[in-house]
Amino acid sequence: MTFIEVALDLPLNTLFDYQCDEATLEDIGLRVVVPFGRDEKVGIVVAVKENTQVPPQKIKQAIQLWRDVPPITDEVLQLLRFTSQYYHYPLGPVIMHALPPALKKTAGWQPPKKRSKAIAVKPLSAPPLNPAQRSAVESIDQKHNEFKAWLLQGITGSGKTEVYLELVERTLQRGKKVLIMVPEINLTPLVEQRFQARFPQASMVSLHSALGDKERAQRWIEIAEGKVDIVLGTRLSIFAPLEQLGLIVVDEEHDSSYKQAEGMRYNARDLALVRGQNKKIPVVLGSASPSLESWWNAKQQRYQHIHLLERAHPGATLPAIHLIKASQEESKPVSDRLIHAIGERLDKAQQSMVFINRRGFAPVLICNQCQWLATCEHCQTRLVVHRRQRQLRCHHCDYQRPLDQYCRHCKSHDLTTLGEGTQKIEEFLQQRFPDARILRIDSDSLKSREWATQIQEISQGQVDILVGTQILIKGHDFPKLTMVAAVNVDSALYSSDFRASERLFTQLLQASGRAGRGADQGEVFIETAFPQHPLFQALIEHDYQRFAENEINERRLIGFPPFCYQAILRASSTQLSTLQSFMHSAKHSLKALHAEHLTLFDVIAPTLAKVGHKHRLQLLIQSSSRSHLQQALSLWSTELYPLSPSGVNWVIDVDPIDC
Ligand code: ADP
Ligand code: ZN
Ligand code: ZN
Repeated sequence: MTFIEVALDLPLNTLFDYQCDEATLEDIGLRVVVPFGRDEKVGIVVAVKENTQVPPQKIKQAIQLWRDVPPITDEVLQLLRFTSQYYHYPLGPVIMHALPPALKKTAGWQPPKKRSKAIAVKPLSAPPLNPAQRSAVESIDQKHNEFKAWLLQGITGSGKTEVYLELVERTLQRGKKVLIMVPEINLTPLVEQRFQARFPQASMVSLHSALGDKERAQRWIEIAEGKVDIVLGTRLSIFAPLEQLGLIVVDEEHDSSYKQAEGMRYNARDLALVRGQNKKIPVVLGSASPSLESWWNAKQQRYQHIHLLERAHPGATLPAIHLIKASQEESKPVSDRLIHAIGERLDKAQQSMVFINRRGFAPVLICNQCQWLATCEHCQTRLVVHRRQRQLRCHHCDYQRPLDQYCRHCKSHDLTTLGEGTQKIEEFLQQRFPDARILRIDSDSLKSREWATQIQEISQGQVDILVGTQILIKGHDFPKLTMVAAVNVDSALYSSDFRASERLFTQLLQASGRAGRGADQGEVFIETAFPQHPLFQALIEHDYQRFAENEINERRLIGFPPFCYQAILRASSTQLSTLQSFMHSAKHSLKALHAEHLTLFDVIAPTLAKVGHKHRLQLLIQSSSRSHLQQALSLWSTELYPLSPSGVNWVIDVDPIDC
């Protein structure tokens, strides 16, 4: 008799045995339909064996072993096993997460009738690399047969992408395949065009969660069948079933979207390094402002550090950055100095951009009589005013309601908004410059129109002023854009999250990088109440190094990452008392392990203490040793399963990036 071990998408830390006499070792990684309770479920075969611990009267027969699609390869299964162990997340859901949704159906795979056509692009010839680029390529390429982590730190526009392209070319010439990761779905079409133009003969697919189910599965299958040379994708592409992988590139490696923010909280950048190590291939991490962790690893010579210090485009220079002291009295959403600067660009038919990291009209609706604030009924957060839609919306759950006409506490009609979001800035600028063509870009505006079309309009000069959130500052090349302004940036300076200033610095550097990429000199304005702050002083010099050294010294003083390793137990429930007692026993059980070198903090409510009727609590654990922390988490997580009452969801967030 032959038995198979099956991974199923269940929140249980176990695999399931079934009898399947037709199975051979070749079938590991295939989809299989099995009976489960009264249901049928799809799982993945992770082992084939002659014996089982399950008593004969209890063992069930597998229903259908699907051979219509190639199995998940050993290499990817190995990565998935690592992911499960490292993030202390059950193997079943981890493996099923890597599979496109359309392949999780109990029915077999039915290929779509229509094949999607590849986009037609004009072939593009490569510019000759400058000496810095060439030396980067040669260093990495010399070691193409071994694992090394390369931190390619190059200022915005320094030609990092050209370095990737040259490395890709050499990898393809050796008959190997490439995985390129980008942080944003919205960036994939642009990067895809640039790569396709360079490698018209190569077969390339992009992989991200916005694809339709069929399309995504179809692409995954083509990759698994070995038909694809270049995979371009967001974080989930780290599990793409590429064989003969020869190179992994993680562009904008500092970007927080590489870290999954719910469920299995893996970091695709870190897994890229694991995959590269397993495969013995180079992994290139590219950024203008690396994460402090990566920068520190490079400093400690765990990564190879390569610098590109100048803009590559002939004649292009870095923009001048000016700090504008935001005055408390001035109640305008945009200061006169900025208005003046925008006016100048309009006269010269150039573009300007206002970056504000908050969508909506205003973040607060307040009663002038009794200070009542409009808050969400499901979360303990403020409702955001969306004036055009005449709505109040919660940005954390789906709650929305018509804009209140009077105070819900004292019935006064004397309500005002405080603060500003993209819509208020847009409205203000439109009143100020009635003839200007203003385009607002945030996740609200992108729901209605495609980013790709809007990017085209911007590039073709059909827009004068851009107003938007961080979507706007990532990786785009708008030649007519010569001025960038950032407003409302100060809250990060006194945030309780110790990474807030790092994120702010990165965002501002990235935003600045949008200005003056063409021949015209760029200018950047940042409005702050604290122009003397070291962060801004480093920024105006474009001095990442100085910022990073300051920051690393502070982290060392307080003993925060990268000088320690962290994990957070995050749990939620509609029942606060049940949740509290679970967290209490969880902490107790960790203490009882007498784990060495572990610091346990108090159980606290996160900043978002309640979201969509669910209360949240968290427990931070810290250690100076990664392996001690990992050992403790392994023991602890097995104890948490029986401890957790129904109605409580929990997850261990390893290497959290928001506290
Ligand atoms: P990054 O990825 O570092 O932001 P890119 O690779 O996008 O930089 O390059 C920025 C601009 O400079 C692009 O317009 C690119 O075509 C151009 N460029 C890059 N390398 C060279 C080079 N060696 N010679 C001329 N132009 C270059
Ligand atoms: Zn009131
Ligand atoms: Zn809410």
